Amino acid sequence: MTILNHWVSGRPFEGESTRTAPVFNPALGTKSKEVRMATAGDVSDAVASAQAAFPAWAETSLAKRQAILFNYRELLNARRDELAQILTSEHGKVLSDAHGEISRGLEVVEFAVGIPHLLKGEYSENVSTGVDVYTTREPLGVVGIISPFNFPAMVPLWYFPLAIAAGNTVVLKPSEKDPSASDWLARLFTEAGLPEGVLNVVHGDKVAVDAILEHPDVKAISFVGSTPIAKYIYETAAKHGKRVQALGGAKNHMLVLPDADLDLAADAAVNAGFGSAGERCMAISALIAVDTIADELIAKIGERMKGLRTGDGMRGTDMGPLITREHRDKVKSYIDSVNGDGAELVVDGRDPEVDGEPDGFWLGPTLIDKVPATSKIYQDEIFGPVLSVLRVGSFEEGVELINSSPYGNGTAIFTNDGGAARRFQREVTVGMVGINVPIPVPVAYHSFGGWKASFFGDTKAYGPDGVRFFTQEKAVTRRWLDPSHGGINLGFPEHN
Ligand code: NAD
Repeated sequence: MTILNHWVSGRPFEGESTRTAPVFNPALGTKSKEVRMATAGDVSDAVASAQAAFPAWAETSLAKRQAILFNYRELLNARRDELAQILTSEHGKVLSDAHGEISRGLEVVEFAVGIPHLLKGEYSENVSTGVDVYTTREPLGVVGIISPFNFPAMVPLWYFPLAIAAGNTVVLKPSEKDPSASDWLARLFTEAGLPEGVLNVVHGDKVAVDAILEHPDVKAISFVGSTPIAKYIYETAAKHGKRVQALGGAKNHMLVLPDADLDLAADAAVNAGFGSAGERCMAISALIAVDTIADELIAKIGERMKGLRTGDGMRGTDMGPLITREHRDKVKSYIDSVNGDGAELVVDGRDPEVDGEPDGFWLGPTLIDKVPATSKIYQDEIFGPVLSVLRVGSFEEGVELINSSPYGNGTAIFTNDGGAARRFQREVTVGMVGINVPIPVPVAYHSFGGWKASFFGDTKAYGPDGVRFFTQEKAVTRRWLDPSHGGINLGFPEHN
């Protein structure tokens, strides 16, 4: 059985660990490889490699960095089919969705190609007679990136291209459930001309993560994962003196007003609820329907769900398996609980017809109506193909429900009323808002991040915030001395 090694100093690295974890093909239900699980010593070696590469990389000209990034963009685009195959066979998402993920990751590489422009500082001439002030942005050093299973390519790509473009070096710890995409991305960057040690990948679990969080040479942490772990990462990294941005879990609501185009709203609810088997941090998992249109909307959604094909993502299906057998069983147990709490199961995905191997981790799309706001199905992040419908009497009631959620990642309103949409945008306490757009993931030149329990930190992922996160500003006050500046004055400098 193949064992996936770490990637350190531009080559595979076995390290000292004898511990491995299984990696599955979730559509087959079989183990495809093992991945090494790093010890603290292995992490230390990876950090040492990144630390050794840092001075030369930080001194590398912007033109040279830009050329390597541009090359990387071209290679990644040309060979995206290989990466899509890896994503489908390890994560399970269907091929078209894997390509979507790659496109959104590529966007960030394209943004990072513009690094010479992004690092430009500000300049004020003659702030005092003969004195100029200007700012520069400098890299931090070694940065740690810890990513989740659900976007094995896109989430690492949210961070490392920009961190590297800004002159930092990186230790990336991807999810141990689908680690091959990160390995592939790092190898390709080496092929694009990235010097050894600038991007290192260590595989592992909490042992590796803690070693990164505690390592004195790691200056910043970008984390994406579930809320309890995000909170832990934020607190632990901060305690060790690091800059940290930690993106957490979500429960995203879509509010449909009576004036909305119900066909478009039903299409959007199905796409955003069941795409990637609901394993997206921006998936819609709670549909809030104003009473008067709820029956009609649910009927339209149910109709569309009949056409969805669940199965192996390599076979042109609509929805793939869940990531592991345990996760599938956990999601299923939420559906099992439905009849106990007053909710109504409209479409039951527990025994799906599947275009794939019987041992895959399957669960069909599931629709549950009249879900009480007090139920666990509504309150927990389920992270599976389960769409809950909550009925409300008014716009105000819908907004109140959304705002009382502890999460605040994404939300959407469907309406043709501009005034209602504007009011929604202003009143809702969520970081990313869609107006007739169900999954409002900002493009790479804006920044991504939620509010409340969906985000811990202040500067968000990629875009302008990403540049700020991976750099520190230096302000220079400069004067070229001439004899008129002589004399002693112990007072605090004033302007004249
Ligand atoms: P997870 O929290 O289980 O794991 C995320 C990372 O943390 C992995 O690399 C994992 O190895 C590591 N980890 C797990 N347990 C740890 C521990 N006890 N100590 C230290 N590190 C630990 O998340 P996941 O299941 O891989 O991903 C799904 C979650 O990620 C969902 O909650 C989803 O909403 C969230 N997510 C959020 C966003 C966002 O943008 N806010 C994006 C993608 C995913």
